[in-house]
This record gives sequence, structure tokens and C-alpha cells, in this order.
Amino acid sequence: MFAAGREKQNEVAETSVVRLLIKNGYIIDPSQELNGGKNLLLEDGRVAGLMSYSDPIPDEVEIFDATGLVVAPGFIDMHVHLREPGQEYKETIASGAASAVAGGFTTICAMPNTDPINDSAAVTRFVIEQAERAGLASVLPIGAITKNSAGTELAEMGEMKDAGIVAVSDDGRPVPTAGMMRRAMEYARGFDLPIIDHCEDKSLARGGVMHEGHWSLVLGLRGMPAAAEEVDAERDCALAELTGAHVHLAHVSTRGAIDSVRRAKAKGLRVTCEVAPHHWTLTDAALENYDTNTKMSPPLRTQEHIDAILEGLADGTIDAIASDHAPHHADEKDLEFDQAPFGIIGLETSVGLAFARLVRPGVISLERLIALCATHPARILSLQDRGTFKAGARGDITILDPELAWTFNVSQSKSKSRNTPFDGHQFTGAAIATIVGGRVVHLNPNYQTLHQREAGQFTRQR
Ligand SMILES: [Zn+2]
Repeated sequence: MFAAGREKQNEVAETSVVRLLIKNGYIIDPSQELNGGKNLLLEDGRVAGLMSYSDPIPDEVEIFDATGLVVAPGFIDMHVHLREPGQEYKETIASGAASAVAGGFTTICAMPNTDPINDSAAVTRFVIEQAERAGLASVLPIGAITKNSAGTELAEMGEMKDAGIVAVSDDGRPVPTAGMMRRAMEYARGFDLPIIDHCEDKSLARGGVMHEGHWSLVLGLRGMPAAAEEVDAERDCALAELTGAHVHLAHVSTRGAIDSVRRAKAKGLRVTCEVAPHHWTLTDAALENYDTNTKMSPPLRTQEHIDAILEGLADGTIDAIASDHAPHHADEKDLEFDQAPFGIIGLETSVGLAFARLVRPGVISLERLIALCATHPARILSLQDRGTFKAGARGDITILDPELAWTFNVSQSKSKSRNTPFDGHQFTGAAIATIVGGRVVHLNPNYQTLHQREAGQFTRQR
């Protein structure tokens, strides 16, 4: 049915404008403080405008029935690890993009810690070309801060920016010295690139595999203290003040790091931050069975830190939600806890975990969720034509059903990896359609079954 619709649309494309009308939905666009029932018209992959339900329906239009659904600007996950080039057995750009649209994301940003590292225009161009070939989510590359992310020599940020990077980061291999970070910030500021900062002082983390505290003692595992993150967060906020650079703290997980961001914002510094869903969902008690799917960096922390994350989300200190999607092969995660790699996949559970722990309990509103997933990431990365329904913006849309009950079954994930602690988790609230550049690239199968395809279905009007 869907395929047939596409063929028709292609025929039309030769002679006239391609139109898609998202009809009878509830529009939430925080970029324009817009909140209400409207029809949304796309033309040739761009936003043409919003209309009242009663306005006449244009000629030659495909219709997506969004009755009872929330229509939001396309979600952007600004922190994703795709494993191509180099480790395609864990994830390819195409499989990562498929997982993204299945989770409701229209744009994802690819971290540079591939093999080779993305520290050159050649790798940046490769990522963009592979993503275009896949034709699913937009994939925007992030370049390395230092050559080979080795922390000793700055990478060619200008050449990478010309090739298409949207930020720089040595995520996973934190810039080791304040002196190097200062030079990186001064350089990145010149190219108007945000620095995405993995805060971890290795001299404090000392090879720790989990949060240092009660549970690391009980389990006999080496801990890394919250201070390892907090020392770097405070250092880099001070450097943001010194240099005037835009510093974005990745995956903040501690009360102290969030406090540093709050103080930096109060001073008017260009400091932003993101949080990952597992950090507001699970505590370090989840490690009690030594499940390596609970091993990530930064590690799961205590309830006190979760409370700080919830406060930061509610009061606006935290700007964005990012999954830190980090695919690993089952054989690698099957090792002893100490030996297993850090990280979990996250693109297909982000929205579910946000509804479960943030929106449904009333920690944040649905509007705030959409700001955290679309409006703010677009602003942080200076993506003017994303994260908004202003006329002319890209036709990237995430359609949500806040009431849809579903179960995450990792065996059906579009990712090539299966490393998640959330297999079998039940959720209420999901992305049910993902539209990229005016093209429906994913329809949630749970939704289609439940509603016997009454809604979320195309019809054609002449
Ligand atoms: Zn990181």
C-alpha cells in the first residue's frame, strides 16, 4: 500500500509539486511556541505551511491521517556511535540510520571514534556519502578535536567543517589537559563549531568500570568517582569563560556536572549539555548481576544523581536528550564485566524511556520533551532548517502517540547489535511515524496492527 503510494508520487513528481498533507494532527513546535490542532503541508520535501482543519485541501496531495496523534519537528539525536568505517560487524551507517528512524529520529550525529577516526575531510565525506546511499535518517558527522583523538595535536577542523561536520569531539578519549582543551576551544570558536565534551579525568577514573560507591564495594568492581566527571566539567566551564567558545557537555550524569552547567548558564556562558536516557532510568544497583549491558561510560550512578538529572531537565539546565547509542557485538559484551566494552544501543528506546520516566510522571511536559529532542539540538548545532515547522524548513517530522503501549523486543531491532538492558521492557508512548525530507521512512508496526491501519495511512486526493 505504502509502496504503491510512492510510485504514484514519483509519477506526479515529473509534472508538478509533490505534496504531503499531515492531516488532523496536534502540532507542537516549541521553536514557534505553537501548540494546537492544525494541518501541516509539505511541498517537495519542505514545510509549506500550517493550515486550519477547515481550510480547503490542496489539489494533488497525499494525505497522512494523524488524528489523535502529536506532530513534532523531526527528532535529532546528537550523540550516536555508528561503527563505520572500521567495525561494520557492530553497526553500519545504514543499519544505524535504520535504527534511528525506527526510534523516531530524523537526524543523527555520528561521533568520530571510528577506525580510522573521523579527523579528516575524507572520512567526513565518506560518512555523508554512505548516509545518502542509505536514504533514511540524515547523518551529520562530528569531527575529532585532536588528530587520531590522541590529545596531542589539533585536527584540521576547518577542512572538516567545509566537508560537513557540525561539531568536534574526542568522545570516549577525553582531551587530557586543560592547556590542550583551551587551544581546542580557541580553534573551534574560529570555525563556529561547538566542542562536544566527554568529561572524564582519567587520573581520577583510574580504569574504573562502574560508579564508585556502595555497589562497587559490594560487587568488588573498580569504581570511578563522580568527581572524575565533575572535575572536567568544572574545568571546561572555566575554559568556556576564558575562551568564549561554545562547549556542550556530553551525557552529563552527576549532580556536580549539572551544577557546573547551571552556574555557567547563570553567567551567560555558551555552555549547553545533554543527558542519556539510561542515566535517568537505572541506578548502579542494576549491576548486581554483573550484566555487561549495564556497563557504560559515564557509568550508571545513584538515585541522588538521577534526582539531579530530573531537576536539570525540569528547570532547563539540561538542553538535550541524546542516546549515546553504542553498538557492540554479543561476543564482546559476553566477556567478564571488567573486560567488556562500555556502552549500549539506545536509538529505539530513547522515546519510550522519555515517556516512561519524564513525561508520564509529569517531570516535564510533552512540549519540553520535543524541545529537548528537536528544537534545542537544532539550535546547539546551528541547523537553521531543522527542529522547526517554519516555512521552508526541511520536511522532517516525528509523529508521536503518547498512549501507545508496546514492548521493546531487541531481536527485532534494526541495529546490528543487541546490547541493551531494556529488552522486554514495556512502554507507553512511542514514535509511530518518521518522515525525512517529506518522505515517510518508517511506520511503527505496533501502531499499524493496533489500529488496523485506520490512521497513519495514505490516501490520495485529486
Ligand atoms: Zn562519551
